[in-house]
Amino acid sequence: MKGFDSVIIVDWSAANDTGPTPRKDAIWLGAVLGGAEIAPEYLRNRDIAMDRVTALIRSERALGRRVMVGFDFPFGYPAGFAAALVGEPAPLKLWDWLAEALTDTPRGNTRFDLAGQINARLPGIGPFWFNGTARDVPHLPRKGNDRTAEHGLPERRRAEEQAKGTFTCWQMGGAGAVGGQAMTGMAALSRLRRALPEVRVWPFEEAKGDVLLVEVWPSLIDAAVKAEGDPIRDRAQVRLLARALSRLDDETLAGMLDVDSPEEGWILGLGHEDTLAGVLRPAESAPLTPPPLSNDCFALPRGTDWVPVDAALAHLREHLAAVTGTEAVATADAAGRVLAEDAVARTANPPAANAAVDGYGFANGPELTGPVTLPLAQGRAAAGAPFGGTVPPGTALRILTGAILPDGVNTVVLEEDTTTDGTAIAFHGPLKPGANTRRAGEDVAEGQTILPAGRALTAADLALLSAAGVRQVPARRRLRVAVLSTGDEVTDGAPGPGRIADANRPMLAAVLARWGHDVVDLGIAPDDRAAIADRLDRGAAEADAILTSGGASAGDEDHVSALLTGTGSFALWRIALKPGRPLALGLWNGAPVFGLPGNPVAAFTCTLLFARPALSVLAGAGWTEPQGFEVPAAFTKDKKPGRREFLRARVRDGRAEVFRSEGSGRISGLSWAEGFVELPDGAATIAPGTPVRFIPFGSFGL
Ligand code: AMP
Ligand code: MG
Repeated sequence: MKGFDSVIIVDWSAANDTGPTPRKDAIWLGAVLGGAEIAPEYLRNRDIAMDRVTALIRSERALGRRVMVGFDFPFGYPAGFAAALVGEPAPLKLWDWLAEALTDTPRGNTRFDLAGQINARLPGIGPFWFNGTARDVPHLPRKGNDRTAEHGLPERRRAEEQAKGTFTCWQMGGAGAVGGQAMTGMAALSRLRRALPEVRVWPFEEAKGDVLLVEVWPSLIDAAVKAEGDPIRDRAQVRLLARALSRLDDETLAGMLDVDSPEEGWILGLGHEDTLAGVLRPAESAPLTPPPLSNDCFALPRGTDWVPVDAALAHLREHLAAVTGTEAVATADAAGRVLAEDAVARTANPPAANAAVDGYGFANGPELTGPVTLPLAQGRAAAGAPFGGTVPPGTALRILTGAILPDGVNTVVLEEDTTTDGTAIAFHGPLKPGANTRRAGEDVAEGQTILPAGRALTAADLALLSAAGVRQVPARRRLRVAVLSTGDEVTDGAPGPGRIADANRPMLAAVLARWGHDVVDLGIAPDDRAAIADRLDRGAAEADAILTSGGASAGDEDHVSALLTGTGSFALWRIALKPGRPLALGLWNGAPVFGLPGNPVAAFTCTLLFARPALSVLAGAGWTEPQGFEVPAAFTKDKKPGRREFLRARVRDGRAEVFRSEGSGRISGLSWAEGFVELPDGAATIAPGTPVRFIPFGSFGL
């Protein structure tokens, strides 16, 4: 059997998408894609999860990979149930029946009613039981013991007899129950099969084909999950199960897939627990996965008091690494995306030699000097309408820009340089051989590396990729960055005495979107440790990094710093920078947190200087350096030594102007400015005409 290149594991949930975020029982997805483990993803409801799974399967297939997708709910009911409902022991027909009968939206579903309706079709009371609603659901008993045996169906599947600790699919709710998951899950997979016809379902269909759905049960690897110590168990389960299945060699996996259970289905790996545990044990030969950021990645050397800007940047550059996985993206949709691998030209550009101008094509030769007259051959060559034949020596052919050079033509004379009577042309030779033509591959050769891994694709890059026949690229998943404002005084409503409008969140969200990241809005948290911790929990679950503003110093109300202190990863960087107070850094549940100052001018400056290159590294695009240039100053300033200064500035008439006030509360100056004037760490005396370094905001990707 050919093995699988990618394994995706989904921890399903039948819960509704209501109530606070993050919900404990939402859906987690873990995956090893083409050998690379991705960070597990938090998917808040079934619709979002199925969209994500569908997109992942599509993009893996586009990369030519075979995919196995595991879901942690039963793929079938105990023997006899399918026949009772759809007339034959055909589990996939049952899936379609459930998809028809069940209404399922993120806000709610009809699983209890459907369970009651199915019970009503069968003799006696049951088999489904447990009513999770306050109202009575017809034919659905609240207690398992209220059922009778007349329906004649077994309580468990054969697999569940063997798997100690499984719940039966008849129990529709209650702690640990799987009835709701089975029902919503089979319905969702029925829809997935319809959307992606190449999907096969194990063990009901042959494990051939390139996408295989399998039933999994993470409890099979319980010991490894416990050892992982992840506070979010579901997250560890999907990560480790994807890892384990992706590490199985083809023969072992084929053995696990060799199961005869055409009606009830089976749990992949049941009976092979030791093998799964074995591949999860750390081994020399285990495939490399990118290590998580280490807890001390922000720790500065002992005794550091003030950090110079350059040292702060060097530290970030050295201690951060890419955290995003890979997916295939159509070139047309790839603006701003980061290439995960080098892009190689599939075709040459231009693909064939062609005319660079409108004119007449002919075979050039040394005899064609002085006044030249050539009879015209019949026909013409145009872009998209090639001339099929050969142009005889000593004749010329009408040719238009972009037309492939026909056989017998190696040179084109510009229309404006000729005269013609319709049967012949005249011009003055000599012309350089190849004049006014483009050679095949003169721009890009087939097989040439045209863009390096890590490149954030520009509009021009899309043109280049398209021209080189690259219609889709392996791209890094977008980096998800959460944004949180803090402060009792900060409001989304109208500002007034004691109430400051949240200026940072809209600013940071806009900046992040501009940089191509996905923004997760964490809102505003009051100056309350538990409230901020709650938002950080959500941020770490839903995003790869978190930007907070406010509360970052070391004072009474500086709760971001206080919370990060408790993680053991906290560092408060007192950067020798103006504007900008300390930057609070740390890891919250593994997600890097950039605790920016509350002051919008300082927050903006720190974001551009520090968060931008750091996020760029996390996104897989590598370190970025803003490009500045020297211009004469249009201002006067006596700068003291000790802190590097970034003045809000713009260039007019070739000279750098600075905003009239350096006050760090002056948000209007940010809006006025088009860049920074960067003044060095040391002292500086600046008079009109003194060269200063100007860095346009565009240089920071804005
Ligand atoms: P902090 O860093 O929390 O001490 O805040 C420093 C200053 O920035 C205070 O004047 C805050 O009111 C202000 N500030 C904090 N967060 C924001 C925000 N999101 N928008 C506007 N001003 C803010
Ligand atoms: Mg504050």
